[in-house]
Amino acid sequence: MATNLLSARDHSRESAGLRYVYPVVSRRAGGLSLGINLNPNNACNWGCIYCQVPDLRRGAAPATDLAQLEAELRGFLDEAAFRRFLADRVPTEVQGIHDIALSGNGEPTSSKVFEQVVELLGKIRSEYAASADAKLVLITNGSLVRQAHVQAGLRAMARLDGEVWFKLDSATRQGMRSINGTTLSPARVREHLELAAHLCATWIQTCVFAVDGVAPSHEERTAYLALMRELVGARVPVRGVLLYGLARPSMQAEAPRLTPVSEVWMAQWASEIAACGLEVKWRL
Ligand code: SF4
Repeated sequence: MATNLLSARDHSRESAGLRYVYPVVSRRAGGLSLGINLNPNNACNWGCIYCQVPDLRRGAAPATDLAQLEAELRGFLDEAAFRRFLADRVPTEVQGIHDIALSGNGEPTSSKVFEQVVELLGKIRSEYAASADAKLVLITNGSLVRQAHVQAGLRAMARLDGEVWFKLDSATRQGMRSINGTTLSPARVREHLELAAHLCATWIQTCVFAVDGVAPSHEERTAYLALMRELVGARVPVRGVLLYGLARPSMQAEAPRLTPVSEVWMAQWASEIAACGLEVKWRL
């Protein structure tokens, strides 16, 4: 009998009892996503009000133990162990690994060995039947992309046919400050996005929600659409926009102030973005 079955709402980083590797059933992926958490210290250089990381604090990833990461991955992907894991923990309709996602309890590119991690993931992925077809995805706020080791990691991601999901929740200074807790300017974030998009296949990832019952304002939406049109006009090679709602509860102090927007609101917003000339995928 299956015990302690993983569900799409269970994104515990301890789901397999490992430090770096956490399998989740992903609604987004429609299957099993193998998360790689390089921030087991719950440290991020941003502080998003919808962040699901408990005890989030400001900071960077601690030193990454590549040998432990490799051992955890090999132990998890070993054929017999993986089959047992599927049988015991995963709903029967989910089979195999859809993606390997560098995502976790902080900004993954703040690991000093980010490039080596990407290379390691590429090497191990190809060695195991369970992961051979898995897509490599980096979920990032993009704020460190000017650093040489991050750019080297993105080039490695591109060689491995990976994708970057670049967080962009607002295109205004005030919005970025209040939603993401960053003082970066919109111009700097656009520069980061452009850099990422030229280094590796990049999707913009935007979380949409209401604060104190108020959905993103006219001013916010106008600035966001202007940026999308600017990107299209300048032929910045972004693949499109992934819009998503509050799938899991925020673990931050602002949590009680956040509510989902309606399906109608989201669909309308998606069509306005698509009218800028970008592919848009959305879910609440
Ligand atoms: S960038 Fe990601 S990990 Fe960092 S605070 Fe925002 S949601 Fe949390």
